[in-house]
Amino acid sequence: MAAISLMARLPLGGDLVEELTRLVLANNLTRGGIMVIGSLRRAALGYYRQKEKQYVTLSVDKPVEIASGMGNISMKDGKPFVHLHLVLSGEDGACVGGHAMAGCEIFAAEAVMRGLEGNPLVRERDEGTGLFLWAKGG
Ligand code: ZN
Repeated sequence: MAAISLMARLPLGGDLVEELTRLVLANNLTRGGIMVIGSLRRAALGYYRQKEKQYVTLSVDKPVEIASGMGNISMKDGKPFVHLHLVLSGEDGACVGGHAMAGCEIFAAEAVMRGLEGNPLVRERDEGTGLFLWAKGG
């Protein structure tokens, strides 16, 4: 894959991870990085309980700023997969953060994506963590 950079405004009311995934698919990205800032009407953040090896979800039921959104693109189950983490701030500036789950409703968002050259980077289930991590040497 050739390197590609793009910038996009994401639609009002859309789901953040879904809209980023749509962009990834439309541009045939199989490995790369994502940055996103803006604001959300509400959010859902994941926290991985390492002992239990499972995610719990924190619902943020108020408008928040995306103070920072950082992610990456790789392949999972044969499809491009967006892995995104968010730091969200409320009106008092206090922040919460975590793994972006379905349910982050966009108010306004600007994304910058960079697709990197090279073979698709593939996620595989890792026994030690229970997570789908990049294959070694990817
Ligand atoms: Zn994560």
